[in-house]
Amino acid sequence: MFLDYTEEQRLIADMARDFVSREVLPLNERYDFNRPITREEYGEIWQSLLPAVMRLAEGMDLSDLDYISVGILIEEIFKANPSLACTIGMAVGPAVTLHLFGSVELKKKYIPLVLSGQKVGCTAITEPNVGSNPAGVQSTAVRDGDSYILNGTKTWISCAHISDLAVVTCRIREGKREGIGLLLVDRGTSPYDSSELPHIGLKGFPTGELYFSDCQVPCSNRIGGSGNEESGEDLKMVFQGFEYARTAMALGAVAMAQAAFDHAVSYAKERRQWGKYIGEHQMIQEMIADMSTAIDAARLLAYRALSLLQQGKRCDREACMAKYYATEMAVEVTSKAIQIHGANGLSEEYPVERIFRDARMFTIPDGTTQIQKLIVARDILGLSAFC
Ligand SMILES: Cc1cc2nc3c(=O)[nH]c(=O)nc-3n(C[C@H](O)[C@H](O)[C@H](O)COP(=O)(O)OP(=O)(O)OC[C@H]3O[C@@H](n4cnc5c(N)ncnc54)[C@H](O)[C@@H]3O)c2cc1C
Repeated sequence: MFLDYTEEQRLIADMARDFVSREVLPLNERYDFNRPITREEYGEIWQSLLPAVMRLAEGMDLSDLDYISVGILIEEIFKANPSLACTIGMAVGPAVTLHLFGSVELKKKYIPLVLSGQKVGCTAITEPNVGSNPAGVQSTAVRDGDSYILNGTKTWISCAHISDLAVVTCRIREGKREGIGLLLVDRGTSPYDSSELPHIGLKGFPTGELYFSDCQVPCSNRIGGSGNEESGEDLKMVFQGFEYARTAMALGAVAMAQAAFDHAVSYAKERRQWGKYIGEHQMIQEMIADMSTAIDAARLLAYRALSLLQQGKRCDREACMAKYYATEMAVEVTSKAIQIHGANGLSEEYPVERIFRDARMFTIPDGTTQIQKLIVARDILGLSAFC
């Protein structure tokens, strides 16, 4: 695949850059993204962005908004503020799940609330004892009349502590039947507790735990529900969004690597040692060439996956390749950006140490690098390492 944008996509890229420089970059001054943003701040930010998002949407003609254009937008927003990009992406995630699998009633009630920022969503699969293998979830929802009684703990959940809604993957029991299913839990009517989990990077991105203790959830809040839990059909819903999510993460990683690279290039042209710019030293040039090539390779992998999605084709293998290559690449490239800055690269006075810590967060979620590789190899060999 040769990556060449169409005229419309070029226009969208310009509009996305303009939107980011006018609306997103000023937020970096107005809010402290060195700690998780609060529920109130999320509401304010979303309200302040909404009019500009609507204007952007009008200018774009949404019927033309293809996956490649969305990819361009993702790159631009991630370059400006990865914590905010992750927060918004994860907070609106349940709207996508509902759009794909929710009942008409759930869609009508909750999608507008999530998209208008009135409700913050989260997607809760991971548990203290269950990470890479979601089929092992231990949280239970037991049918009791018109409700389920949900018990369990979820961990490492994006937007957990600021959430008003959670799409919870759990073991659903209906009489003698048991299987994995999804419940939409509305904190207003089905209260649950939460806490923050501090982490190495993406400091402004709230990530935490959810605690469900005899939490009563109406049966009408079940999402999907094939009625045949043992068939594993409902578990497939959990996996279905992964192709797009992994590709989006790959582009987020590309954007972070690109941002660190741009800083490294500027620094290499300003800093002088041995009577010349450090960019004139051959080993710095080698790093610049390696970084640039790796970023381009990752970007091409990500856009190949997007282009398959655009054609309506499955792209599990391509999305996994893009995700693991791009996220590992971002760790390496941001680390080299620090190297090019010398000791200054380790200082909080320069942006590259923050970008390095942010990039380090991406090789784990939505399937670790190892899990992505196992999926790629399974697709090639027709042999699974998972059983
Ligand atoms: C920033 C961030 C945001 C997140 N957001 C969410 C969210 O919104 N919702 C949610 O549900 N979860 C979320 N997670 C959790 C994430 O999905 C899990 O961390 C991830 O699936 C890995 O699980 P684990 O951390 O328990 O690692 P484990 O599964 O315990 O893995 C530990 C190590 O063992 C390796 N390993 C595991 N199984 C195998 C195998 N079969 N073969 C080879 N190696 C293996 C892994 O690659 C890893 O190196 C998030 C995590 C992060 C870091």
